[in-house]
Amino acid sequence: MISKISLIESNFYDIIFSGWGASACILLNEMDKQNLLSSKKVLIIDPSEKLENDKTFCFWSTKEEDIFKDYRLLISNQWSGIQINNSQPESISPQFYFHINSIDLYDKARSIIEKYTIKVLVGKITRIQNGAKVKVKSSEGSFTCSYVFDSRSIDFEKIKKSNHFIYQSFFGLKIRLKHKVFDESVYRMMDFRVSQQVATQFVYILPYDSTSALIELTRFGKKVIHKALAKQQLIEYIHNYFGEHEVIADEFGVIPMASHNFKSKKSEKVIQIGTRAGSVKPSTGYAFKNMYTHAKEICSDGIQSKNITINKRFAFYDQLLLIILSKWPQMGKPIFERLFSKKRSFLILKFLDEKTSIREDLSIFGKLQIGVFLKALCYWFFNKLKPSIVAILFIVSIFLFENNSSSIFLTDFQLGLLSFGLLLVGIPHGALDHLTETISKKKKITFSFISKYLLLMVPIFFLWYYQPLLGLVFFLIYSAWHFGQTDMNYWKIKSNWLSMFWGVSLLGYMLFSHLDEFIVIVQYLGVNFSDNSFPVLIFSKILLLSSFLIAFFKRKLNWMLWCVFLLLSTKISLLLTFGIYFIFHHSRIGWMDLKANLKTSHFNMFVKAIPFNVGAVAIYFLFFVKGGFSLQQNISYFFIFLSCISFPHIICMSLFYKK
Ligand SMILES: Cc1cc2nc3c(=O)[nH]c(=O)nc-3n(C[C@H](O)[C@H](O)[C@H](O)COP(=O)(O)OP(=O)(O)OC[C@H]3O[C@@H](n4cnc5c(N)ncnc54)[C@H](O)[C@@H]3O)c2cc1C
Repeated sequence: MISKISLIESNFYDIIFSGWGASACILLNEMDKQNLLSSKKVLIIDPSEKLENDKTFCFWSTKEEDIFKDYRLLISNQWSGIQINNSQPESISPQFYFHINSIDLYDKARSIIEKYTIKVLVGKITRIQNGAKVKVKSSEGSFTCSYVFDSRSIDFEKIKKSNHFIYQSFFGLKIRLKHKVFDESVYRMMDFRVSQQVATQFVYILPYDSTSALIELTRFGKKVIHKALAKQQLIEYIHNYFGEHEVIADEFGVIPMASHNFKSKKSEKVIQIGTRAGSVKPSTGYAFKNMYTHAKEICSDGIQSKNITINKRFAFYDQLLLIILSKWPQMGKPIFERLFSKKRSFLILKFLDEKTSIREDLSIFGKLQIGVFLKALCYWFFNKLKPSIVAILFIVSIFLFENNSSSIFLTDFQLGLLSFGLLLVGIPHGALDHLTETISKKKKITFSFISKYLLLMVPIFFLWYYQPLLGLVFFLIYSAWHFGQTDMNYWKIKSNWLSMFWGVSLLGYMLFSHLDEFIVIVQYLGVNFSDNSFPVLIFSKILLLSSFLIAFFKRKLNWMLWCVFLLLSTKISLLLTFGIYFIFHHSRIGWMDLKANLKTSHFNMFVKAIPFNVGAVAIYFLFFVKGGFSLQQNISYFFIFLSCISFPHIICMSLFYKK
């Protein structure tokens, strides 16, 4: 027992660094400076021993800024002038462009590791699990800790799904020239005298002295640069513009340039740092200064979980530039060339540091190709609206359907529209429950699956049969949960109570704002409901308005639009309101969730749903058209059938979303 406890305790650390790259080194440096490591048990795990000079880190600042003072001893080169293409060099005074070799940063961290006898393991972290104490699984064993600083490389495939994603990839050569050619006080930020056919490409030159330099071919594009082709282009470029040379070393790198929202990952104990925290400025690929600022924020008052601060104005500019670079890559060259030729480099660096005023921003944009920025703005706006187009369409459609509000029945056109939607997505979205692997683990319609499905329907049927009012209330409660859960999942809000709140608000308002029609329908179901409209309507209005306000504060446009749709839906009938919401919103997003999770095509899903579609049409004809029942009976049987079949579906989807 004693040995077990001591074993567990020996695996406990105050802090674990998952990854020992630039961001971890910068954070260690800051912790050391703030004396936050002295009484801490710290572990670092990284597959690399950090013995190679694998990167060069550059940043610009004045010599008065803290970042310079903190890294002064590691800076190996500095430049006071900047050059674009082969134009006249321009001073960036009082700023300098500073250069740090990654090995010097790693060695500095190594000295801190030795100072505090921090444990370092060469291995891979495979899992980090949040909890009262964080559990870390690695190739070297399992550990627990109070804080993890996670800088593991990110999965580009995941952030590729963000709206505007491109790679900044580069291949560089460290070279020595035969003749003294370089001006060692000037670095070349961008030289566009290379092919622009496939993407925005430029050469970046850091001269170390008059004969040696790092020369990189950089690409902003959807595809990563090809090393061999890049080398060929670089050699040609160096030969053309600088003459004979020898290659000493090479460097290759890929940085994501994405409008990905890294913020959602915030946790008090598992703190993302570096690239995975969103330190890389999307439009430039620079991260060093952001990592430095982030480290300072984390250490500002003891150790605290802090997200990277994102300036929304500049994040918006970044998105516009990313749109241009990804959609119209040939525009990168003229934009950057115009930018540097029309504005002082000092102001541009200030802009890239996100420190300019709106006035200064406008003076910069005023000099650029306004047409392409307007095009990017339209594209951005359309992209923002895209997920809400269906909601907008149906808000507009309310005014077209307006005249029919007095009847609970549908016109032929409305019936046609809803039937089409029901066959296209309404029924199919509920016909793939076997693929959710919830009530049955096999992704097939098996005897066991059908039995469990039917068994879940039985109690609902009997509830309707013996206690129609209870049946109705129960049906409304689980439907509210299901609608709310599906919507919150779609709007990326993780809250069970909000799911229920929204479900109740939407169903409550939908039904009570069409009270006359609701009363007629429930009477068909054998439930007597007295016309006591005033309090319930007011109450449901309050719920809906509260939902609208929550949506507003959570900045969920789509949610706000569906609130507007419901508010206006008093102009159309209850069946049409419900049909539109159920088919064109609820079923559609449920279908999309399944598609994303099952990683299959619409066609495949539709084919798998055909038996249910055929079955549903057959039941409709045999039972409701040819059955010879009265309209009243048809409506009541339909609702009871719907509520019975919904119950297992809702259980499947609820478990599916929880997974
Ligand atoms: C070649 C190159 C040059 C750059 N130059 C500049 C520049 O000049 N200026 C600038 O501002 N920015 C620059 N950047 C961008 C940015 O500063 C760097 O990418 C920086 O290294 C990011 O720091 P990081 O800690 O997020 O990632 P890294 O420095 O890459 O560190 C991540 C660490 O996590 C480790 N790791 C990965 N998987 C695991 C795992 N499963 N378990 C444990 N550890 C793991 C890796 O081995 C690595 O050590 C450059 C980037 C590259 C690629």
